Amino acid sequence: MEPLIKPLNSNYCNSLTSYSRRKTIPVKIGDVIIGGDNPIVVQSMTTVDTMDTKGSVEQCIRMIQSGCELIRITAPSIKEAENLRNIKAELRKLGYHTPLVADIHFTPNAAEIAAGIVEKVRINPGNYADKKKFEVIEYTDASYQEELERIRERFLPLIKICKENGTAMRIGTNHGSLSDRIMSRYGDTPLGMVESALEFLRICADENYHEIVISMKSSNTQVMVQAYRLLVQKLDEGGFKPYPLHLGVTEAGEAEDGRIKSAVGIGTLLEDGLGDTVRVSLTEDPEFEAPVARALIDRYTKRNAHASIAEISDYPINPFEYTKRKSWEVFNFGDHNVPRVITDISRIDRITEKEMKAVGHFYLPELDKWKMNDQGCDFVYSGINPIPFMLPNGMKEIQNASVWMHLKDQKNKFPLFSLDEFNVFQTFHSELNFLEITDLQIDEAIQAVRDRKDTVLILKTENTHAMPALRRAFVKLIQADCQIPVTVKVSYPDQAADQTMLYAATDVGGLLVDGLGDGIMLSLEKEGFHSRENVIEQIKLHNSVGFGVLQAARTRMSKTEYISCPSCGRTLFDLQETTAMIRKRTDHLKGVKIGIMGCIVNGPGEMADADYGYVGSGKGKITLYKGKEVVKRSVPSEKAVDELINIIREDGMWIEQETI
Ligand code: SF4
Repeated sequence: MEPLIKPLNSNYCNSLTSYSRRKTIPVKIGDVIIGGDNPIVVQSMTTVDTMDTKGSVEQCIRMIQSGCELIRITAPSIKEAENLRNIKAELRKLGYHTPLVADIHFTPNAAEIAAGIVEKVRINPGNYADKKKFEVIEYTDASYQEELERIRERFLPLIKICKENGTAMRIGTNHGSLSDRIMSRYGDTPLGMVESALEFLRICADENYHEIVISMKSSNTQVMVQAYRLLVQKLDEGGFKPYPLHLGVTEAGEAEDGRIKSAVGIGTLLEDGLGDTVRVSLTEDPEFEAPVARALIDRYTKRNAHASIAEISDYPINPFEYTKRKSWEVFNFGDHNVPRVITDISRIDRITEKEMKAVGHFYLPELDKWKMNDQGCDFVYSGINPIPFMLPNGMKEIQNASVWMHLKDQKNKFPLFSLDEFNVFQTFHSELNFLEITDLQIDEAIQAVRDRKDTVLILKTENTHAMPALRRAFVKLIQADCQIPVTVKVSYPDQAADQTMLYAATDVGGLLVDGLGDGIMLSLEKEGFHSRENVIEQIKLHNSVGFGVLQAARTRMSKTEYISCPSCGRTLFDLQETTAMIRKRTDHLKGVKIGIMGCIVNGPGEMADADYGYVGSGKGKITLYKGKEVVKRSVPSEKAVDELINIIREDGMWIEQETI
């Protein structure tokens, strides 16, 4: 058989067009095997104090019952590492054999103890043998080499213990906690993240120790996706074994935002067959994490059967760096415009002003005025059910062309054509028309729109391997140098709200992180017929998921971004309660990023590119940050939210909350 020649830029996965899981070596963790031909494993992490044996055991059981197959527990010092023995013994006594993983930061001595007790140890190469001082140091090749020797010496005892005990290891790089050495040489980049892991991996390989899983986490989904892809490429190029990958987005937050952000990062990689174990990090109780991870993974159990997608011989997209696909400006789509949100309201006839609340536009009858919130959609699609009242300024309406052509005033409404209609109609809007096609009609569409600067494509697919099928269509557009703006349309049959969030985030977010797409539309097309109330609820969900996906893929900021850690045994305050409190006071600060971190040991590093930080620094004490700079230390927790707001205010970033 001819060897498969892969197009340049696609070495990070088996195929850009056929679902195929990357073949990795199997790594045994107690009774669970990660990698090889084994199913993708779901894991999560406890949040109770590791010294609380009873509390830890009870939480582990709740996690196991929710579908968790591997449990990580923090071991900040020797005493917690030692207590893993009691937790493990209790669980085994109760008949639970789920393997345990010790989570280590800064404390090799705790790692060495834990490696003799639990089935796997997670180390962070950014802080295993290095203390973070946020210093830029100039290294010569010789002094860099000396540093690596120092790490080797510090790291070798752990490898020895792991080998003796059959303990596996995760080399878990985090974007926010790279060592000063890596930062000085590679910067805060995906390459820096990969090199950080490779430094440790080379030592393991020299010692012939291969029970290794690797992760490249970041709370920035673009960085996270690029880092994993680059890791795979560097492993292959460097002649390393294909170690299994642990996927995760750090500090994803809570609720809808946390789910969407996780899916944009994790789902994008799963689509290309990367990933052998998944942890979804939410600022919620850990038993809520496993079902989300499971929902993401389960999409791929039958994915092999998808309809075929034409192969790509020349891949024009750089998967390791974000570059927005060039598109020309049509009305307010494409070019420098933020991606637009189109919300489908076509299942509601005679919609009223009051119901527009679901798409973020509020009618105030006493003032006869409209207001919109930060998730006020740009366009609604009304299909054959035109809106019978005057629209608010910030929102436009798209109608089916067959309805639009009979309008008296065609100027302020915009037509949507099928390809057949587009080819035969004589009347078009002078500024903005929509042409809806499937991925299979892309060649014909390119011919139809070639020189038209008055049309936006609405691109959808029926292929179950949706993101790659849509990506294939974008590749055709790029190759044909057709710069028409494209809105990606997705629609799902009736399903749980969580699934809609995760699927849309994967299918559209996976394109956006590679710079593909000028808009998003969640459509009601495939849903069953429901009561008016239910349809309104669904529209509300679609509208907010649309904005959520754009934000999670970092392409349009429409709300405050909370980079909140999931909490663990190190956490110094109630993260869920505090996050809710901070959210209540600040969720109108569009585009502002606020880090909420449970501990000062990892928090400042992990909150990555947050604009402001709220970090637990002692019992009842909070340290407040502006960027990476400490602004106030040891603020009593009851005053800390007010102080945080003062810092934002002094910085000129505060605006008063409007009531609608
Ligand atoms: S930042 Fe949060 S999750 Fe990370 S170690 Fe600290 S408390 Fe635990």
